Amino acid sequence: MTKRPLRESPGRIRSLLNFVGGRFVDGGTPFDILNPATGAVHAIAYEADRAIIDTAVAAARSAIDGEWGRMPLAKRRALLARVADLIEARFDEFLEAEIADTGKPHTLAHHLDIPRGAANFRVFADAIANMPAETFEMDTPDGGKAINYAVRKPLGVVAVISPWNLPLLLMTWKVAPAMACGNAVIVKPSEETPSTTTLLGEVMNEAGIPAGAFNVVHGFGPNSAGELLTSHPGVRAITFTGETRTGTEIMKAAAPTVKALSFELGGKNAAIVFDDADIPAAVTGLARAVFLNTGQVCLAPERIYVQRGVFDAFVAGMKAKAEALKPGLPHDSGVDLGPLISAGHRAKVLGYYALAVEEGATVVTGGGVPKLDGPAADGFFVQPTLWTGLPHDARICREEIFGPAAAIIPFDSEEEAIALANDSEYGLAASIWTTNLSRAHRVGQAMEVGISWVNCWFLRDLRTPFGGAKMSGIGREGGHHSINFYSEPTNICIKL
Ligand code: NAD
Repeated sequence: MTKRPLRESPGRIRSLLNFVGGRFVDGGTPFDILNPATGAVHAIAYEADRAIIDTAVAAARSAIDGEWGRMPLAKRRALLARVADLIEARFDEFLEAEIADTGKPHTLAHHLDIPRGAANFRVFADAIANMPAETFEMDTPDGGKAINYAVRKPLGVVAVISPWNLPLLLMTWKVAPAMACGNAVIVKPSEETPSTTTLLGEVMNEAGIPAGAFNVVHGFGPNSAGELLTSHPGVRAITFTGETRTGTEIMKAAAPTVKALSFELGGKNAAIVFDDADIPAAVTGLARAVFLNTGQVCLAPERIYVQRGVFDAFVAGMKAKAEALKPGLPHDSGVDLGPLISAGHRAKVLGYYALAVEEGATVVTGGGVPKLDGPAADGFFVQPTLWTGLPHDARICREEIFGPAAAIIPFDSEEEAIALANDSEYGLAASIWTTNLSRAHRVGQAMEVGISWVNCWFLRDLRTPFGGAKMSGIGREGGHHSINFYSEPTNICIKL
């Protein structure tokens, strides 16, 4: 019988079971899921063991060999569109589950996380229908002709390993194209944020997705569900979003069975503000970029290079924005700054706050923990923080912090700004602020990153390529780039 893990009465601890072959299954070792805004346990998830992972891989395989694999494309697209409709129909359940796991402000999850979860299914249901086929006619040695055409096929069982910062959004960004291509997926959500992925299991059943096409296994990374999945011989591809260091471990696990890999990894993103920029717009745009989701966005700039003539005005503007942010519980009115995801992550971010001072920073604002009353007093909050005076080679300017913090550094020339921005082992995103059209193109193209924004940040058309250069990733997803990764062509050559 299908259990409904997220339908318990409000206030009770929810039980998040593994979802395998279209059913919520018993088994696994329980672990606590905390609400980071209060530090209280709000759910129990069950860490999948080897037997559960094996069953999930077998269920996924039999879905591909069965009804899911044989389903006509039009029906597959209709079912995925239905998944999007059902996420919208159950919007509030997804919203509350996401808020409970992440502690993020209600308005943020309402406007960003849940709508994008639904949109991902619609975008890729369309993308798969608009993928052109490749055809070449050739001359043969005997003076005749042959035609070649390529048909795209699913890869097979795809493991989706997702992080905690935008749980539903980033997980569906990979599940939707993988399923649109006809693969069966096994998702391992972050151990911090498993609720919305579990709820999606219910939605898949409700939409009529055949059993085994979508599976969820809970647990941790090393020596747990993550590693069991990424090293499993039955898994053909791994699509991963998370830290660069984790990516290197997953590559090792995937190597013996030569799995296809798509990696969206960490960043140490730069923003550049030229003295010809609209400075109030740059302040508004970059304050949002640094502090949105409490800085827990892979694309957030943590290094802001500002041309010397506008440096003081920019720093003053950013300081005012940071100090206007209101931390607190997700549903409290006016709250626009949530907690960090965990006590462990807060300790790491506060470690960087201390390091910045050791490395000679001037603390423009923040640098500690806000004083909050009531249940939020036990949440994992930090102050939004800005530094000046750091040398470019400081660790603060090189290592990903993943918190609401940025170093602001002056520059003099365009060449210098480009060199500083590119001097990083990461290459995910850049945000450039200028009113000079030629400079916008020149600097945008000079960035060694997967995406350069000009006079904006985080503006996403889901058809465009997305991914990271250097140690920020492998491959590109988005639109037909996703279809290219989640399917592979077989070329058929016919002598005429
Ligand atoms: P993480 O790497 O710690 O964990 C991500 C996922 O990997 C989790 O589900 C975790 O359980 C799993 N995992 C960990 N070790 C594993 C192993 N050895 N084998 C298999 N699975 C393993 O990342 P996080 O802390 O959840 O997320 C924050 C990081 O994600 C940041 O570095 C951020 O920049 C990055 N990120 C990148 C993008 C992007 O699009 N490039 C988007 C969001 C987040």
